[in-house]
Amino acid sequence: MIARRRRSILYAATLLALSAAILPLICVSLLSRERAHKAERAHLAQYAGWTLERATLTLSNAQATLKQLEQEGWVGCSPAHIARMRQLAFDNRFIDQVGYFNDGKLACTSWGTVSHSVPEQAPEHPLPGGFALQLQVNPLVSQGHPVIGLVLGDHRVLINPQRLVDVLRDGEMALGVATADGRPIAISGHVDNSLISAMAHHTGSGMDDRNMFVSTSGAGLMAFAVSDREEFERRLRREWLLLVPTGLIVSAILIGTIAWVSRQRLSPENELDFAIRHRKLIAHYQPLIELQSGRCIGAEALVRWRRPGPDRMPPDLLIPLAERTGLIEAITDLMIECVAEDLARMLGAGLDVHVAINISANDMESGRFLPNLHAALQRWGIPASHIWLEATERGFIKPELACATIERARAAGHAVSIDDFGTGYSSLSLLEALPVDTIKIDKSFVDTIGRSAATSVVTPHLIDMAHSLNLTIVAEGVESPSQEAYLRSAGVEFAQGWLYSPALSAEKFIEYCHQLNDGPN
Ligand code: C2E
Ligand code: CA
Ligand code: CA
Repeated sequence: MIARRRRSILYAATLLALSAAILPLICVSLLSRERAHKAERAHLAQYAGWTLERATLTLSNAQATLKQLEQEGWVGCSPAHIARMRQLAFDNRFIDQVGYFNDGKLACTSWGTVSHSVPEQAPEHPLPGGFALQLQVNPLVSQGHPVIGLVLGDHRVLINPQRLVDVLRDGEMALGVATADGRPIAISGHVDNSLISAMAHHTGSGMDDRNMFVSTSGAGLMAFAVSDREEFERRLRREWLLLVPTGLIVSAILIGTIAWVSRQRLSPENELDFAIRHRKLIAHYQPLIELQSGRCIGAEALVRWRRPGPDRMPPDLLIPLAERTGLIEAITDLMIECVAEDLARMLGAGLDVHVAINISANDMESGRFLPNLHAALQRWGIPASHIWLEATERGFIKPELACATIERARAAGHAVSIDDFGTGYSSLSLLEALPVDTIKIDKSFVDTIGRSAATSVVTPHLIDMAHSLNLTIVAEGVESPSQEAYLRSAGVEFAQGWLYSPALSAEKFIEYCHQLNDGPN
């Protein structure tokens, strides 16, 4: 389960990291496309607007000239009429020539009378105010280049179409003016007629495989600006190069955050927290042997993984980590639940045993666990005398608080031992201060039995001292028959260690006790 959790955290982190690497770049792509599109569209829209302004300015100037001529009432191509037309053509920089039609034929122009016959052309595109446009006029003077004609009454002005689109450009683009229904009037550059009629159909902006275009309309005309798609692609590359570093930074920050969060979640502390919440920890029981009779009279509950494995933290690392991180309280509660349930089975199986629970210094000082312990024992109908408590002197900050908890526990019927006795520097003063029933002589002293180490002299004194204080003694970590023989002869009451058994599961412990206590002696 924990391995599965590790795997799923790693999978999720990898997946997230991949997305964190890819998504910002996708966003950068979309954003740079959007920005390039917007910029090119705005650029073209500005030019389309200026082209429309230019075209309407040209036409309105030409219209003013025509209106003036018509109002002055000229007829007949008199020298004064021709002179007037010449003067107007000269004064107005938007028009190239003025002509006068009579009887359906060109009678005279600003250049003089016309000797050859030029028939009057039908106006192709009406404009407001009685004006009309002729989109393709081919006068001799323009030498094959078509010009446009603007007609009012009998007069007509000719305009070089380039004047309508005479806008200074800052890059490659085509500009043009067309009638509102899409017939081209003037174009500078190359634009397909099909595109012009499409733009007339739907003014605004657009893009196809070759071009990007914007059109705008006003005063009965449509003006447009068209750029090569290459122009857009160039902008796109610029935006992309501008935004990619930001995308990479965002990716790096996201990946860093994901790595940090997954490291946190994979930290030993988090795994332990997960294990506690999912009840991956259980109690195993190390038998406690009465040395005189050789019978098993109880056990010490030691925390174990429900499913052991090489990647599991051993208890001698797990407990200090839990103590550092505050998870120890949850472990105490879990052990209480576990022990109460197992002890009910042990008693139910006919064993007369107690179970000793290790209580951390923290819990011993706060006494927080006692109500939980009592509730659990009540739930399972177990007398308090079947639970012993082991208090380790290591870590006591305020021994007087621990003292109060020990008194409460003893008043409730529990026996209390001092664990690892002899290893803390305050052992002797504690021994007098704490109202305990038992001391557990630490394994390091038991190890010295029969050796010539300096500590080996201490062990008999510890035993004497405990006995003179009327305390019973448990010797921890007994591994050899010679240690057992010494302890028995020294009057030590109880022993625990691999000589008898390591910690066992509840069922195995029940079997062990039955075998040891009920077997032939
Ligand atoms: P401890 O209370 O002194 O427990 C005895 C430790 O010595 C246990 O180690 C036990 O497996 C080991 N041991 C027992 N007999 C022998 C032996 O003959 N030879 C050797 N070499 N070792 C032996 P474990 O289970 O690794 O526990 C280590 C410590 O973790 C315990 O020391 C205790 O301080 C703490 N601990 C274990 N379970 C709990 C728990 O449920 N709550 C709390 N607060 N602490 C616990
Ligand atoms: Ca212990
Ligand atoms: Ca111990």
